Amino acid sequence: MTKLNSLETLLLHEVQDLYSAEKQLVKALPKVAKKVSSPQLRSAVEEHLQQTEQHVNRLEQVFGLLGADPKARTCKAMKGLINEADEMMSEKASPATRDAAIIAAAQKVEHYEIASYGTARKWAQTVGRDDITRLLDETFKEEEQTDRRLTELATSGINQKAAEQMEEEDFAE
Ligand code: FE
Ligand code: FE
Repeated sequence: MTKLNSLETLLLHEVQDLYSAEKQLVKALPKVAKKVSSPQLRSAVEEHLQQTEQHVNRLEQVFGLLGADPKARTCKAMKGLINEADEMMSEKASPATRDAAIIAAAQKVEHYEIASYGTARKWAQTVGRDDITRLLDETFKEEEQTDRRLTELATSGINQKAAEQMEEEDFAE
């Protein structure tokens, strides 16, 4: 077990956690894309998959700059978030309701990443590593953009559609 005796080791620890988280997402996002109904949501998920592959690359660059080998430390939080999403996606649901649920799950993931990258980039800045700060900040911004795009998709129609589907079902009973 590593001793967390400096901000730099803490940063390395966080980068190892993120490396695991991003790799889990690279595996999970194609499955999510298949379950999506809205074409706009599907392209958002697919585009974020491409970004996520870049996030893995950037973390590998960060490992290099830290003089460490790329090593993933299983991110249990991401495992949990993905498990919840899997469970939810296997439930029966109307298409728009499932899309609304997928957006919710995806935003939890983005918020986790925003918190982690937000902290990691500050730590990198504090230890005077502008090169690492820049890389982490690039990813941080993409996670934020994705989060905003998901909010946009939810509030510009998908949530409303899901609400209407529920009402129709109630009416049919
Ligand atoms: Fe990411
Ligand atoms: Fe992300």
